[in-house]
Amino acid sequence: MNASKYLVADGNNVSIGSVSLERLKQDFGTPLYVVDEQDFIDRAKVFKDNFKSSKFETRILYASKAFTNLYMAGLVDSLGLYTDVVSGGEIYISLKAGEKAKNLYFHGNNKLRSELEQAVDADLGTIVIDNESEYELLDKILKEKNKVQACLLRINPSIDAHTHKYIQTGGDDSKFGMSVHLDETKELIKKLSKNEKIDFKGFHCHIGSQIHDEKFFFFEVEVMLKYAKDIENNLNIKIREMNFGGGFGVYYTSEDKPFDLETFLQRYAEKIEEKLLNLDMNLETVSIEPGRSLINQSITMLYEVGVIKTTSTGLNYIFVDGGMTDNIRPALYGAKYEAFIANKISEEPTTKYTIAGKCCESGDILVKDEMLPKASAGDLLMIPNAGAYTYAMASNYNKLSKPAVVFVKNAKAKLAVRRQSFEDLVSNDEVYKNE
Ligand SMILES: *Cc1c(COP(=O)(O)O)cnc(C)c1O
Repeated sequence: MNASKYLVADGNNVSIGSVSLERLKQDFGTPLYVVDEQDFIDRAKVFKDNFKSSKFETRILYASKAFTNLYMAGLVDSLGLYTDVVSGGEIYISLKAGEKAKNLYFHGNNKLRSELEQAVDADLGTIVIDNESEYELLDKILKEKNKVQACLLRINPSIDAHTHKYIQTGGDDSKFGMSVHLDETKELIKKLSKNEKIDFKGFHCHIGSQIHDEKFFFFEVEVMLKYAKDIENNLNIKIREMNFGGGFGVYYTSEDKPFDLETFLQRYAEKIEEKLLNLDMNLETVSIEPGRSLINQSITMLYEVGVIKTTSTGLNYIFVDGGMTDNIRPALYGAKYEAFIANKISEEPTTKYTIAGKCCESGDILVKDEMLPKASAGDLLMIPNAGAYTYAMASNYNKLSKPAVVFVKNAKAKLAVRRQSFEDLVSNDEVYKNE
């Protein structure tokens, strides 16, 4: 089974980090996000140990939009990772968790004045400028506050990586960044480098997500470094940092063939070194921003099976106690997952099921056409490899409470986010008064 590293099946008893799933169900209820903490720690180490160079400093930024909360941000900080944040809320969580402001990179295509002020006030490490208007707004804020801010400029490298269109970001129609094809981009770079309030370090780019072919990342390095060299030569501006983004593909189902992370990361760093040598360039810092590839495998979702129904057409449904509210990806863009019945894990799969949630939407489906042992009410359904963009996109549709998040490691389970109560659901509401 492809799942987090410390998920172990012993007969019909499945455990993660030496805590049985039945125990987790009893103690924390379902639906539940179970984080295999050691699996995450191990993967962070794979990134740090393999994306290395003697020619430049390397930084691993965790793209916190994939999955974050105070506990997670604290863990990320303790592992020496930097963090990519995309909103005032994410900045707030990272800082509140104790991350150093210097370790944050702030992204976004429409950063609000309030968010830019928050970032500048907090002395955030790096703001990744997306466009000209944002530059003008930031320039105003920096003058008002008389502060200097380190910045990168997001470049759209015009690369169409083969992935789903909603998670593709580097093509020419993308809403992100400034195009390599436009003269305005060069004009903006000139302004950035001349501005005394801006410490212009270099470029950022991110070509998309869930990319399985290494060649797109190598191509991205070529395009971006050539562009950087061109800027150095023609505009006489020194480029010191390059951030090549994230998007490394992961395993969801047998349709996904992710590359081996260790070898890829080593070759990626070598490729950058080689290209720099060819171009006679040097950089101080090279950063990458994995989100999904760091967290996705570490989280397994648990549900309790409720009703089982066979339609007139012979389709077998398993209904679970959550659904699109805790994982909207299948409904949003047809994402696929594998599912297992944890308490029947050693039994033969005999029946084809579609696993649906309890929300009032026909599209509320988690997994289609999964072969499983005969299911019954009360079974514990498990969906591994469900860490990225699941809790992060959770909603209260149908007024379902957001599930709890529990971290397990070394036979200990720690509650990181408690399940929302009904009170939580109305905590922002005002009561109607007939006056
Ligand atoms: C979303 C995002 C990432 C992370 O993407 P993954 O596919 O989760 O690795 C990195 N950088 C930027 C700018 C992003 O928007």
